[in-house]
Amino acid sequence: MTGPRPGGAPATREQHRPRIPLICPRCGHEQRVVPGGPERAVKVVHVATGREACEPGDLARAPDNGP
Ligand SMILES: [Zn+2]
Repeated sequence: MTGPRPGGAPATREQHRPRIPLICPRCGHEQRVVPGGPERAVKVVHVATGREACEPGDLARAPDNGP
């Protein structure tokens, strides 16, 4: 039996914003999804720079390659 919970607020507070942390597969920095333009619905940009492209400096030092 699953009835309506008393005093329950609707669980759908967030409408269109999934809070899933995006990590760039290339540089490993955090990304986020922003509204795109007429050509693309959305685009993924880096949080730090706000650009789609990775920073060359971050690509140079790959985490897998130790000193
Ligand atoms: Zn990146």
